[in-house]
Amino acid sequence: MQNIYFDNAATTPVNKNVLEVMLPYFCEIYGNASSLHSFGQEALKAVDEARAKVANFLGCETNEIIFTSGATEADNLAIMGVVFANNYLEKKIHIITTEFEHPAVLETCKYLEKQGVEVSYVKPGSDGVIKVEDIEKEIKDNTILISVMYVNNEIGTIQPIKEIGQLVKKINSERITRDPSTSSSLRSDSARDDTLRQIYFHTDAVQAALYCEMNVENLGVDLMAISGHKIYGPKGIGVLYIKKGTRLQKIQHGGHHEFNKRAGTLNTPLMVGMGKAVELIQTRDLNKIKFLRDYLWQELQKNIVDVSLNGSWEDRTPTNLNVSVQGVEGEALLLGLDMAGIAISTGSACSSGSLEPSHVLMSIGLSHEAAHGSLRITLGEENTKEEIDYFVQQLKQLAEKFRQMAPK
Ligand SMILES: *Cc1c(COP(=O)(O)O)cnc(C)c1O
Repeated sequence: MQNIYFDNAATTPVNKNVLEVMLPYFCEIYGNASSLHSFGQEALKAVDEARAKVANFLGCETNEIIFTSGATEADNLAIMGVVFANNYLEKKIHIITTEFEHPAVLETCKYLEKQGVEVSYVKPGSDGVIKVEDIEKEIKDNTILISVMYVNNEIGTIQPIKEIGQLVKKINSERITRDPSTSSSLRSDSARDDTLRQIYFHTDAVQAALYCEMNVENLGVDLMAISGHKIYGPKGIGVLYIKKGTRLQKIQHGGHHEFNKRAGTLNTPLMVGMGKAVELIQTRDLNKIKFLRDYLWQELQKNIVDVSLNGSWEDRTPTNLNVSVQGVEGEALLLGLDMAGIAISTGSACSSGSLEPSHVLMSIGLSHEAAHGSLRITLGEENTKEEIDYFVQQLKQLAEKFRQMAPK
């Protein structure tokens, strides 16, 4: 029986070196990092080192790094935190996001919409890439936040984060010159009862961290979320980068942990693991995974009839291949492949427990049929060429079998 894991966008295994550095912080160095005695101080030292590693990776200060329970919480804190700090009950405020965000962002925005916040959902192109002009078109005077994911988790497409960062910078500097308190010509504008506020730029960078430029300064982002278990670190830990000076209200109340932005006893072992996972990214060779992904796509086209790629080929991470196999149910393929010892994922409806197929595939204009026949294969650092050969052979057999069974 094979044991092949092609679902690295869902989660990655914990790297052995990551586990090793975490272990002492469960039973030996177990002090509460907030305690003043030496048990606590020893834990705090480890947390400080982990935070420094993350700050080094993102190119920021250590006090701009907030550890959270994962990227879901980091996205919630970023979006709700900025909205709550902006007097949202009295002033109609506006945020811009995209149609194909992860639920951690999408559902947070929908929740805020119910609370009276105005939200624009920008549609990506059929290549799975958001156009900067389409973001720009949505910006209004009451826009205070733009949230665009760095890499889409289903189709692996890379978004123009740096370009959007530049746009936000430009709009913000124009706002400073337009501000009624600095320009007397605007002061008589009775329609405006408030000074123009800054737009903050948030990105969910969970799927980008292993493969893309992550320097927050170069990208021009104010808020960035990453997750431990997508980068060969542990589950249950994430990071939110919050640029110094960002007006953000905490959403979880309690102690003054994490620079008073996220209450809760510091999770020393997971933070140490996150630090190590991030450190290991900087030593990773991407050529092998890129080679495997290219080989996989070549073999699929050679062996499977009517297979099509979802999302841009050029603007995608080396781990991801999302394809549609015409006339076959993705769910059936997933289960058939699982029987053969291969783990992949699908944008077909049933697997997600909902009736609609993937909102991501719908947003890039796929037909229901193509979305139902979709497979997401996300490679990891331990995969081999032999595993790909075996997978393609199994998929070929299954696709032919299901197509024969399907009514004409
Ligand atoms: C996995 C994922 C999340 C959620 O991260 P957790 O740490 O599991 O909460 C958010 N956004 C994207 C793009 C993801 O892939």
